[in-house]
Amino acid sequence: MAAICVFCASSRTLDQRWLDLAAETGAQLARRGHTVVSGGGRVGMMGALVEGARSAGGRTIGVIPQALVDLEVADLTSDELLVTDSMASRKILMIEKSDAFLTLPGGLGTLDELFEVWTTATLALHHKPMVLVDTDGFYGPLLAWLRDLAGQRFLKPAGFNLLRSVDTVPGAIDLIESQLT
Ligand code: AMP
Repeated sequence: MAAICVFCASSRTLDQRWLDLAAETGAQLARRGHTVVSGGGRVGMMGALVEGARSAGGRTIGVIPQALVDLEVADLTSDELLVTDSMASRKILMIEKSDAFLTLPGGLGTLDELFEVWTTATLALHHKPMVLVDTDGFYGPLLAWLRDLAGQRFLKPAGFNLLRSVDTVPGAIDLIESQLT
């Protein structure tokens, strides 16, 4: 049983399939007894994630900056809602509160969060598992580009390999659990 941080999209105009993926992720984490840590908003996939977790009886922790409380519709029904004074402190707190990180499809904010945990892991500032859910090859072009950068020695293969990528949510949770034990 762990606190698992999920990074995902806040967009309100996504296809239903992405909202369903987020809801299913929340539900599966809850069914396996994990707490879901999120950006503390109720919009887009972030909202579907926490609803999914709580409908399956799970516990959620939201971390949101004061400036986004209205914009991202702060998840006031969260079991714990932590309001920070900046975007930077939000990321730091999300990392501190979590035992592992799972990234679903998302936009710039999701990428920012993913790269924050990834770069800090490559610097050995934390040793927490990170898994990317590459549904239908969503992250394929990004991973291919980064692999090429590793080939050109802009990044170390060992650092690149700290982020594991799988194509299903149950596979991602299995991988996180295996790295936590
Ligand atoms: P997006 O993937 O762009 O929909 O954003 C997903 C989440 O990332 C949203 O809750 C954004 O507020 C959040 N986000 C965007 N930029 C940052 C940042 N620099 N630091 C922390 N969170 C961010």
